[in-house]
Amino acid sequence: MSHSDPNCIFCKIIAGQIPSKKAHEDDQLLAFHDINPWAPVHVLIIPKQHIATLADVAPEHDALLGAMLGLAPRLMKQLGVSNGFRTIINTGRDGMQEVQHLHMHVMGGPRPWVRG
Ligand code: 5GP
Ligand code: ZN
Repeated sequence: MSHSDPNCIFCKIIAGQIPSKKAHEDDQLLAFHDINPWAPVHVLIIPKQHIATLADVAPEHDALLGAMLGLAPRLMKQLGVSNGFRTIINTGRDGMQEVQHLHMHVMGGPRPWVRG
């Protein structure tokens, strides 16, 4: 698996240089619990390949994006979320993206939530 960015916090998590609470790992994806959760269950699904934002994807990434979305319901089921969940991808400055490595938030669990 290719490109990583030495200054990227999520690339460092993938490399094990920054610890994380992992929820899923395969050859192309990693899922881990958000350090500042909005909901009882809040995971981030990321590609292992460094892609900065959703605005940077090309048709060659379609299968990867499909894998990210397809993982979400399986992961929620595994983590005991049975009553629905939210999937959010923030993109770019106006999209309020803070970490410049493509990630999908998946949030679930009983309300009330901290945010969202
Ligand atoms: P964004 O605003 O870019 O869509 O979301 C970035 C998310 O990454 C935030 O929800 C933030 O809490 C989470 N985050 C930032 N740094 C870390 C970290 O070092 N570890 C983990 N687990 N989550 C992080
Ligand atoms: Zn990265």
